[in-house]
Amino acid sequence: MAATQQVGSGVHRIADGVVNWYLIDDGGEVALVDAGWPRSWPRVKEALGGIGCSPADVTAIVLTHGHPDHLGAAESARKASGAPVYAHRTEVGRVTGKAKGSSPFALVPGLAPALWRPSAFGFVLHATARGFMNPTWVTEVTPFEHDDRLDVPGRLRVISTPGHTQGHVSLLLEDQGILFNGDALVTYDVLTHAEGARLMPDEVNGDPPRTRGSLDALARLDAGTLLPGHGDPFEGTPADAVAQARNRLS
Ligand SMILES: [Zn+2]
Repeated sequence: MAATQQVGSGVHRIADGVVNWYLIDDGGEVALVDAGWPRSWPRVKEALGGIGCSPADVTAIVLTHGHPDHLGAAESARKASGAPVYAHRTEVGRVTGKAKGSSPFALVPGLAPALWRPSAFGFVLHATARGFMNPTWVTEVTPFEHDDRLDVPGRLRVISTPGHTQGHVSLLLEDQGILFNGDALVTYDVLTHAEGARLMPDEVNGDPPRTRGSLDALARLDAGTLLPGHGDPFEGTPADAVAQARNRLS
């Protein structure tokens, strides 16, 4: 079972195991922000039903990045709704499974040293049971660029926050001061279970120095709530969240 939590006007968080994805319901037109695990499609349908909508109401699927626990059910949602799947131009190869390094097995060497910890090994079991090692790639992707304002429910603005993956983005719902920041900054460490604003573990960041650099871009944004890919919402400004994450680095 996935838990649904309202986190803004028409904005819903679905905590699907240790991953979050979000629905933005803008007058009956719905954007899916990230798409959970490869096996999350039944939960997407259930969550849509829970807000009085159906797959036909989905008009956009917007991805922060192309890891299998975030692009998960995107292809199923695309096929069922006919809605486009959006991702950053430099992330398209990963989302379609064509880029070098898009295979989930590419993450294994980085993760291996952490797996002696029961909590980290637990993540691997959790992820594997949800289809992590067998992603369904997206066959058609609509690319966007930094600073684009997407013609989707919520009129999301694209903020490039690379490092976790090359084309990772955060998405700003300006009207409500809500930032969907994906895995650029999270409030839960999937490998250690530690909570609080922090970076993802370096084991799963494609380019750790660049991930740290993207904190500058986040800190400048005007928002009052951050909605990460893992963990609870952060109530505060991006600058507050970034300060906490930086404290934990030192
Ligand atoms: Zn990720």
